[in-house]
Amino acid sequence: MLDAAATPGAAPAAETPAGTPLVEVRGLKMHFPIHTGLLRRQTGAVKAVDGVDFTVMEGETLGLVGESGCGKSTTGRAVLRLYDITEGSIRIGGTEIGHMSQGALRKHRPTMQMVFQDPQASLNPRMNVSQIIREPLDEHTKLSSKEKDEKVLELMDAVGLNRAFARRFPHAFSGGQRQRIGIARALALSPKFIVCDEPIAALDVSIQAQVVNLLEDLQEQFGLTYLFISHDLSMVRHIATRVAVMYLGRIVELAPREALYAEPLHPYTQALLSAVPEPDPALARKVERVILKGDVPSPANPPKGCNFCTRCPQVMEVCHEIDPAPRHLPDGRQVACHLYDDTNKTAGETAAEPSRPTEHQQGVSP
Ligand code: SF4
Repeated sequence: MLDAAATPGAAPAAETPAGTPLVEVRGLKMHFPIHTGLLRRQTGAVKAVDGVDFTVMEGETLGLVGESGCGKSTTGRAVLRLYDITEGSIRIGGTEIGHMSQGALRKHRPTMQMVFQDPQASLNPRMNVSQIIREPLDEHTKLSSKEKDEKVLELMDAVGLNRAFARRFPHAFSGGQRQRIGIARALALSPKFIVCDEPIAALDVSIQAQVVNLLEDLQEQFGLTYLFISHDLSMVRHIATRVAVMYLGRIVELAPREALYAEPLHPYTQALLSAVPEPDPALARKVERVILKGDVPSPANPPKGCNFCTRCPQVMEVCHEIDPAPRHLPDGRQVACHLYDDTNKTAGETAAEPSRPTEHQQGVSP
């Protein structure tokens, strides 16, 4: 079987004691400039990620959820430094990589890898399976050709691909098999941290559970740490240890999985969970669906105050003026909303009683 230890010749993954943070992101901003006119002057910026903080503990899976365009994929790519970030700090295994040059980053690349959303687009159609999985070994290790061949076959075993398929090309595989090839490639350098960017979104429903189970098995086998990005709340509930909810470039709520699904605090999280289909018809009839009005504002021109104030069913006056800072609650949860602002509650002026989860939300199926 595949050796979980670091590949000889590759840069070693940073050692982090169990139970300690492996990934620490602070104040991460990723703004894309907008250029207009003949002179291509910068006239603004799309604030795709606008001040994100989170920590991923070694061996855990942090789910990152939100609507399309909320900035979750950009966050994943920025954390791996596939972009030159605008601002912030990213520490992986204790090493600050936030503003490291691409040349210096190269030796840290084996530590952190990515599984992409579209396995069709992320695999080179002119390379066979063996060449695809071997490519990172060629780039980052000094293994002999025979050792690389053995490693490729071990990786194929690990992800459940038949060794006889090693010379086949991506077009000869199903979507689920192509995703397995992508996962094998991501594992080639024995990473510690993997960003899974909507890894099941392009797959048939019948295949999705197989790929998620494979990711869980590999996590246990190799001690992997995941940032699992998805808009599928049911799947995130299945795989994640903690869940972060993003809206318009910010994390609005972050909580342990069970707490978040049992009692979502932020109005946006409540709306998201109320939209999850309920398979039990009896429960489905009692669902109190939260319908959000209006469109998501442009990340190039977010509203003043709370980002969610233009759509929030519980909006208050203060929300249009003051951006709510993330508030850390005693139970380890984090929420950015004035409903949980002590000052408002004590004064009893405008703060509404935070709504409780509906019966449906408590019964969301994994
Ligand atoms: Fe809604 Fe105000 Fe909370 Fe924003 S701060 S989510 S607008 S209640």
